[in-house]
Amino acid sequence: MSKVTERTQTEGGRETLVSVENLKKYYGGEGMFADPPVKAVDDVSFEIRRGETFGLVGESGSGKSTLGRTLVQLERATEGRVLFDGRDVTTLSGDELKQWRRNAQMVFQDPESSLNDRMTIGEIIMEPLSAHGWKTKQDRRERALELLSEVGLQEEHYYRYPHQFSGGQRQRIGIARALALEPEFVVLDEPVSALDVSVQAKIITLLEDLQAEFDLTYLFIAHDLSVIRHICDRVAVMYLGKIMELGETGELFESPANPYTQSLLSAIPRPDPTADRQRITLPGTPPSPRDPPVGCQFSTRCPAKIYPEEYDDLSDDVWDAIERFREVVRERSRQELGLVDQARLRLGLFSKYDDIDEAVADLFGGLDAPEAVTDAIESAREQVKAGNPDAAREALFDEFNGICDRERPVLQGVSDSGQQSYCHRHAPEYEPPETVLQRRSDDE
Ligand code: ADP
Ligand code: MG
Repeated sequence: MSKVTERTQTEGGRETLVSVENLKKYYGGEGMFADPPVKAVDDVSFEIRRGETFGLVGESGSGKSTLGRTLVQLERATEGRVLFDGRDVTTLSGDELKQWRRNAQMVFQDPESSLNDRMTIGEIIMEPLSAHGWKTKQDRRERALELLSEVGLQEEHYYRYPHQFSGGQRQRIGIARALALEPEFVVLDEPVSALDVSVQAKIITLLEDLQAEFDLTYLFIAHDLSVIRHICDRVAVMYLGKIMELGETGELFESPANPYTQSLLSAIPRPDPTADRQRITLPGTPPSPRDPPVGCQFSTRCPAKIYPEEYDDLSDDVWDAIERFREVVRERSRQELGLVDQARLRLGLFSKYDDIDEAVADLFGGLDAPEAVTDAIESAREQVKAGNPDAAREALFDEFNGICDRERPVLQGVSDSGQQSYCHRHAPEYEPPETVLQRRSDDE
């Protein structure tokens, strides 16, 4: 196997190990009558440098695990490239793929289910070695014993079974197995999320020690920001299959540029209760990855969304009500009507969407909205009640769309040190996100 040595030098002085280019991973959606695909990872590009710990953070369902699995080729990419040392591994197959896989391993979140309970610890750790026909049986045994001690377990554990171990010990076994073939790159998928806090710290220390000893490069996935902050050199923040922001850990935590990151960070409990950090509660729920927004992925929940010019003077409260109403209508348009409801609709007996009246009353009740707005809401309400939530959804889009609804932003540089953020507000003609968020929190 020839190694391509076209390596790029990056600012930090460290060379690029993994280069991800326009990577997409969609599930399903093939076939003429299939539902639209789940866009788990939707066009992401970034680089991981040799020897660093690159963090990936985001809410549950944002596509972190899918991205991790696709990088190590446990899943095939739908589109895009993944280059290791300049070599595209998404096109590998058969023996070449098997050989390459030695370099890139994965540690899973749940040490409970990721270890086969019928195998001894020794067998579990030797499994990848045997699968790759690594040396002799005696060598493999010795290697397994060596790995046990590397991860802080004892030789006598070799003949025991996973159920005899605690969560933390099982995760040590998972780590030993991942390291058996001496990989350069390891995806750690929430490796401590399932563990007690006291155990988390020990496993993290172990991972740091192993990284230094074996020159490992980590992709560290977590939904816990404090863990990421502690261990990662750089961080990418994911939302609905997209990277919203990326940068050096310290810088990103100190001065997040993206409204999503700003919202996430404001939700962390601060050790010092007097610290003056604005708190933003994100409205609404994340959209379905089968039906993501056309424009910015975060546009349906963004507290710094850019409003269309013709509605420039609307208050934030009215906008929030419009956005929540659009969300209600969107949810209705996602539900397919059953045969009975379709028949009732034709007979004029349809009542399934009558709760839309309550939604309008709740959302717009005490608000002083201009006529253009109330007219648009009223006609959408009628459309929904008539069983046409799709039409209502489109009409609302036509009436209220701004740039965030219509266009995908690009991930662009926002600092000299390589921080990047995905937001229309970084264009010079708009107020920056933090100004908007500050004003909104002052108004409260
Ligand atoms: P995270 O790790 O950030 O919680 P995942 O990568 O597990 O997110 O999931 C991202 C999205 O892809 C979710 O909507 C999830 O339901 C969907 N998904 C993940 N794996 C599959 C699969 N094998 N088939 C269909 N959908 C999947
Ligand atoms: Mg996950």
